[in-house]
Amino acid sequence: MLLKEILQANKEFVKHYNSKVVCPKKPKKSLAILACMDHRLVEFLEPALGIGRGDAVIIKNAGNISKQDESDVLRSLTIALYILGCKEIAVIGHTNCGMKKLDLKELRANMLDNGINYKNIENIKLNEWFGSFECEGQNVLDTVKHIREFPLVAKHIIIHGLIIDIDKGNLHHLITI
Ligand SMILES: [Zn+2]
Repeated sequence: MLLKEILQANKEFVKHYNSKVVCPKKPKKSLAILACMDHRLVEFLEPALGIGRGDAVIIKNAGNISKQDESDVLRSLTIALYILGCKEIAVIGHTNCGMKKLDLKELRANMLDNGINYKNIENIKLNEWFGSFECEGQNVLDTVKHIREFPLVAKHIIIHGLIIDIDKGNLHHLITI
């Protein structure tokens, strides 16, 4: 358990944190980002984009995917647009993403090893649900398209698709619609 370590780190953090710094409730850059949950993006993606605390909303999931209209991504984006005042959306994929060609056999075997009942696994259409993809760039384009077509995203909202190099940090612009 890492909890002890986390609580200790938190004590140190609070000791040195200047709580007089007030962060606005709405993001200063009016930007909502959908990115991958990959741990390598922690403290990497934000500085690579020149954004800091209070600048943007960041929604994360495995593979920066939005495929279903009832997805939590679209729920969160809708809040970002109409409560938090975001005007632009950036879908940011990254190179060497773990969701590319996800090994469903390994995933299934690891779930079974962890005591998950096979019937519960069989009930899920694994590939569809986990949303593995063949190419990070195409996945970004598909996600941008899905968000663009979602009826609750207003036409004047600008949507960008980008890929960040997970090793070098450089950003490739794929599309803006
Ligand atoms: Zn990823």
